Amino acid sequence: MVKGEISINEALCKGCGLCVYHCSRGCITLSAEKLSPSGMPLASFINAEKCTACCVCAWLCPDFAIEVYKYTDVS
Ligand code: SF4
Ligand code: SF4
Repeated sequence: MVKGEISINEALCKGCGLCVYHCSRGCITLSAEKLSPSGMPLASFINAEKCTACCVCAWLCPDFAIEVYKYTDVS
């Protein structure tokens, strides 16, 4: 089974929401607790158990703020 995880570089994220809109697994949200210097909510990884490492979020992010890690369960 493939499991995914992403990391979001908060220094690069501008809170455009593209990754939130296009993640079909609901794994990203815009968090009012984390704001950019201009006051925009930043992307935050949630529902980690649902991430499939599909990479759509990383491909779509215009600011290259997302890295995706893919884990394969070999047990
Ligand atoms: S697509 Fe990139 S810049 Fe836009 S909210 Fe997601 S991580 Fe931030
Ligand atoms: S890798 Fe795919 S499933 Fe995981 S957060 Fe990004 S878009 Fe969602």
